[in-house]
Amino acid sequence: MAFSELIGQSEAKERLGNSLLGEPGHAFLFVGPSGIGKKSLAREFAKGLLCSHPTKEGGCGTCPNCIYMREHTHPDYRELLLPSGEKNIKVADVRSKILSDVGILSQIAERKVYLIDADGLAEEGQNALLKTLEEPPKHVVFLLTVSDDSKLLPTVLSRTVSIRMTPNQENEVIALLKSKNPDILDDEAQLYARFSGGIIGYALTLMETTWLVDAWEELLDLILRFPELSRTDLLTDTYAFFDEEKEHFLDLIALMNMLYDELAILIVDPDSPNLHGESKKDKMISMIKKYKLEVSQVEKCSHILATAAKASRANANYEIMVCRMLLALKKEYIHG
Ligand SMILES: [Zn+2]
Repeated sequence: MAFSELIGQSEAKERLGNSLLGEPGHAFLFVGPSGIGKKSLAREFAKGLLCSHPTKEGGCGTCPNCIYMREHTHPDYRELLLPSGEKNIKVADVRSKILSDVGILSQIAERKVYLIDADGLAEEGQNALLKTLEEPPKHVVFLLTVSDDSKLLPTVLSRTVSIRMTPNQENEVIALLKSKNPDILDDEAQLYARFSGGIIGYALTLMETTWLVDAWEELLDLILRFPELSRTDLLTDTYAFFDEEKEHFLDLIALMNMLYDELAILIVDPDSPNLHGESKKDKMISMIKKYKLEVSQVEKCSHILATAAKASRANANYEIMVCRMLLALKKEYIHG
């Protein structure tokens, strides 16, 4: 493993690679949304920090340090992660696993590296760490990961070098999904990649079930049949689907937004590639023609979805909100 084996994040890798060749600081903060790969990148960087012959690409992969890291047995490397089911890392653990250990010299490497999940550090835990972050022993490097750095004390932020991680490109996520699951269909890989917003961990989680593909098919069918569905159909069968997926309402809205975006693109350019097989694309185009759909109507549909999402966040009555949304969307297909 080296930096190049982690996809994307070229700017972060460049900075980390340069610091491996120079004199790395004592505290780094990896910032980015959950699932983007902060810990994976931090672990690769840790390997580089402990390696006897690091390059810009990270650890050499062959020295004893790299081998211990690969086998998860390096005595100079520790991780303090949030235990599953817990809200915070215990302050006692910060003391016993980190603070009482930093003063002890490294055993094999020239440094000791601590990876800490700072999302699990409440203010008390951050305060406990602060003094050591201020004056770390020479041989110690802290790697903190956090999804929301506004939760960190300004004093913690000011003592760490921020490494910001950005969402990956759609094609990068697709390539990764295909490497993990060679049988995945092209349009499904694209759907996972697009829906994940370039967050690799999220795309991989999505791929574990068929929920996204099933919901996508269902909503595509709904959007194609809207004009034909009666008011009663919408308030019974269609509502039943939304009622079952109550927990995922905002995900459904996001999917419908993606579908309406595609519809808008097809109105402007029927040759544009999209997420569906040709048969579905043909159906979308014939619906556009039959109902003489215009981009302005699709834009109104997006507004209706945005209103529903807002109402959902404000805990509006679910049934009233969904039924109102469905009827409003249907109305947009009818001109005049
Ligand atoms: Zn090495």
